[in-house]
Amino acid sequence: MFSAVCFNWTFFGHVFGVYPIGTDYLLFHASLFLVLVSILVVALACLGSEWTTKPLIIALQLGSALSSYFMDAYGTMVDEDMLRNALQTDVPEARDLASVSMLVHVVVLGVIPSWIVARMPIRYARSWRGFARRGLLALLGVLVIALSLFGSAPTFASFFREQKAMRYFCNPATYVCAAIRVVQGEQADADGPVRAIAEDAHRPGERAARRLVVFVVGETARPDRFSLNGYARETNPLLNREDVISFPDVRASGTSTATALPLMFSPFTRTDGGVGAARQSENVLDVLARVGVSVLWRDNNSSSKGVADRVAYENFKAGSRNPIRDGEPRDEGMLTDLQSYVDSCTGDIFVVLHQMGSHGPAYSKRYPERFNVFTPACESNLLETCERAQIDNAYDNTILYTDYFLARVIEFLRQNEPSFETAMLYFGDHGESLGEHGMYLHGYPYALAPKEQTQVPAIFWFGDGWSVDRDALRAGARAPFSHDFIFHTVLGLFDVGTRVYRDDLDMLAR
Ligand SMILES: [Zn+2]
Repeated sequence: MFSAVCFNWTFFGHVFGVYPIGTDYLLFHASLFLVLVSILVVALACLGSEWTTKPLIIALQLGSALSSYFMDAYGTMVDEDMLRNALQTDVPEARDLASVSMLVHVVVLGVIPSWIVARMPIRYARSWRGFARRGLLALLGVLVIALSLFGSAPTFASFFREQKAMRYFCNPATYVCAAIRVVQGEQADADGPVRAIAEDAHRPGERAARRLVVFVVGETARPDRFSLNGYARETNPLLNREDVISFPDVRASGTSTATALPLMFSPFTRTDGGVGAARQSENVLDVLARVGVSVLWRDNNSSSKGVADRVAYENFKAGSRNPIRDGEPRDEGMLTDLQSYVDSCTGDIFVVLHQMGSHGPAYSKRYPERFNVFTPACESNLLETCERAQIDNAYDNTILYTDYFLARVIEFLRQNEPSFETAMLYFGDHGESLGEHGMYLHGYPYALAPKEQTQVPAIFWFGDGWSVDRDALRAGARAPFSHDFIFHTVLGLFDVGTRVYRDDLDMLAR
């Protein structure tokens, strides 16, 4: 009962939004509440025993306290992607999310009730009698559910048919189901070796010029916040001076880093194979390495999410590798000694730089003080306590810093122009909600996610030596693209021939 009330504020908030409080829906609201309570009763009756009842209640209590905090505070829901993300999140990221109000929420609604439950004397009936009693309780619960559903049948029908999104806000069903799916997924990942792709990959004979490509993976960047794409604020003062091509309409493959990243570098897509197939197969980095390209992944984020498992990988987030840290390791630190790596290679080079970018909710931590240009910036990780304008200021400052970082990458490439044909490709991983429709952060189930979370920026730059029709590219840049193009575009950059390659998905060959 306690759980159904306390952990479903957001859920009932949404329900009341569609089915307003009043005599019309009184019966429906009461029935819905009875159904939620009864489901928990039935579950506990079936799974409970002398040894399991208390641990089960305590686990649900703590889990629900945490997940309801995220729903109430950020409007996010705890689904499979979010759990997978949470499992792969590092300590600093978790620290960004933690706060006093989160602690209070979890202690009051999670820890204290758990303690009471732990101390509560429960008399367990022995053997068949306890069994029968629990069976009876479960039966009773099922009966209550059936009667409640029957009592407001038409409203429930419309609820189940039209309000699919709402079930994601129902505690604890959502995160329990999500946890089961994540465990299943991890098991599938652990099974069997990584599947090879593009085994027929080959390159034509030696080209005279060597190629050096830097691929920047952005983090939580929104294309509509780039002045290159028409944003009213000057968030791209440096890139505006460069001959860059910006693609304003690019769709992400996922709404979280953990789902988007594997698909970005894979021939599989969100609808064809999905993130599971992408994670269990090789990706474009493996193909490039196999045809002789030197591949290096530098990470200032939590990890490559498995993409760079089989190529050279350097962590700039943890440890002492990143020398540029005022407050936290900065993205520009990834350019440190990059020249010596380039100098040590023979042949073509593909470098991936994975940014910390605009990762929230602590946007104001993502940039050095001199990029605090749009003020006052929200300094809190409790986004709902800041005004929208302050959140926008802090977020736009992160884009300003990314503008600077990308300009530094271009500068680095330009220094290498005498020895290489050079190019920079920048793609965001997913977007971010900044308070639109009451939503914050990212990670919504894809089908329900707003465009703020599914649209990403993409920016290309080519050195003078790279032969490409910049005008034609710019003319076609407004067309709709997606992460699905990355795999084929990168193969095209290095002239890799394989049956898997599709020129209709190569942004430079269309
Ligand atoms: Zn991300």
